[in-house]
Amino acid sequence: MSLVDELRDAVGGEHVLTDPDVVAGYVTDWTGRYAGHTPAVVRPATTGEVAAVLAVCRGVRHPLVPQGGNTGLVAGGVPLAGEVVLSLRRLATVGPVDLAAGQVTAASGASLAEVQRAASAAGWAYGIDLSARDSATVGGMVATNAGGVHVIRHGHTRAQLTGIEAVLADGSVVRHLAGLDKDNTGYDLAGLLCGSEGTLGVITAARLRLVAAPVAPVAALAAFDDVATAVAAAATARRSVASLQALELLLDDGVELVAGELGVRRPFAARHAAYLLVEAETGGSIAAFAGAIDGLAGAVDVAVADDPERRRALWLVRDRHAEAIALLGPVLKLDVAVPLSVLGDFVDALPGVVEGAAPGARTWRFGHAGDGNVHVNVTGFGDRAEAATEAVLSLTAQHGGSISAEHGIGTLKRRWLHLSRTPEEIAAFRSLKRALDPDGILNPNALLPPE
Ligand SMILES: Cc1cc2nc3c(=O)[nH]c(=O)nc-3n(C[C@H](O)[C@H](O)[C@H](O)COP(=O)(O)OP(=O)(O)OC[C@H]3O[C@@H](n4cnc5c(N)ncnc54)[C@H](O)[C@@H]3O)c2cc1C
Repeated sequence: MSLVDELRDAVGGEHVLTDPDVVAGYVTDWTGRYAGHTPAVVRPATTGEVAAVLAVCRGVRHPLVPQGGNTGLVAGGVPLAGEVVLSLRRLATVGPVDLAAGQVTAASGASLAEVQRAASAAGWAYGIDLSARDSATVGGMVATNAGGVHVIRHGHTRAQLTGIEAVLADGSVVRHLAGLDKDNTGYDLAGLLCGSEGTLGVITAARLRLVAAPVAPVAALAAFDDVATAVAAAATARRSVASLQALELLLDDGVELVAGELGVRRPFAARHAAYLLVEAETGGSIAAFAGAIDGLAGAVDVAVADDPERRRALWLVRDRHAEAIALLGPVLKLDVAVPLSVLGDFVDALPGVVEGAAPGARTWRFGHAGDGNVHVNVTGFGDRAEAATEAVLSLTAQHGGSISAEHGIGTLKRRWLHLSRTPEEIAAFRSLKRALDPDGILNPNALLPPE
């Protein structure tokens, strides 16, 4: 029997996609820069069917790439070397919310928005938010340890994870979903699979911690004449703004692009070099929040939004950066983090090193000012993508940073893993990979550099 026929046996013929038009959306990544090919996209509906698909692939040693919403930005979820695509989107059950524990178990194909809605309906909230919320899935977010705008308050995905269910390469199912806050019974498999980018197991469900829904959140945008002053103000905001929920850095060119390309309303009549978008839970006491924002040294213009509509309007300026930049053509997405003490210098140095490596390219910078995370987007790089990547990642390493803040390594960055990890760490990664996936069938071209 052929591979495709065996896969049809495992999940049913209608859930094995081979028509090139239908498959196209699964083999091309969100940026459109990476397109691969696959013998089939397989869409199991249960954990048992996932195990059956793995058994088929292991039997013929054909590698597979797990895929959720395909919003990943490091080319880790698309079949660049002819892998089978294992789409988890049909495993989409959420809930019910465990009201006593404040937790929910969600299947891996549920979207972030679905988890947020389930939490909200039960009077809770989920601590992660990012603008790809309608498509990004629980499995993808766990596999990449996704961050987003509320890391400053609630931590990244690993901090929300209290249990996991996953299918390992040998077809065995590891399930540990009780969600006990105290549970020191050996290796933390959930923590290990979190951030493993589909290389150690296929996540089929996650037990997620919920948080109290924010009471009267208020947002403000503060404008500054230069990046260094905005970064210094971000440090002050972390001290002086109570119950901070988000702290985002925007620059003039990005705000102008979002306004010009997408018609999003400019926040102020005048242009400014840099902006901080600050959001906090005020519990109704807006005056203290507004006072803290007004008190940020160097703030030359401030807008405070306390009603949902104005808050949404301020967030649109931030949320639609990726979309506006994508309109300019192919985008190199280089999400990095540096220590906060050097964030301002790093942001200022970026355009110069990119220009040196890829003359004529443009560098767009925005990100999470509270945790040193800069989303470096490069457009107009022509055939100099490798050189621009090398320049940005090397600059990051020189500043003592991480070459991946929250998107993972994928295929895009694996050549540069050594900039953030020692040879001994990479050797330990390889030992784990060999132990859990001896045949190398799970996403073999992601995360680890070729030996
Ligand atoms: C507009 C936009 C904004 C974004 N903002 C943020 C942000 O603020 N913070 C952030 O962290 N990310 C952000 N991202 C990146 C992306 O949304 C996250 O990486 C997200 O976690 C990917 O989820 P996904 O379901 O789309 O995964 P995919 O793209 O489908 O896959 C991502 C990786 O996870 C693996 N994988 C997927 N599902 C499973 C599974 N069930 N089991 C094992 N491995 C699996 C894949 O093999 C791949 O390596 C953004 C993306 C876009 C397009």
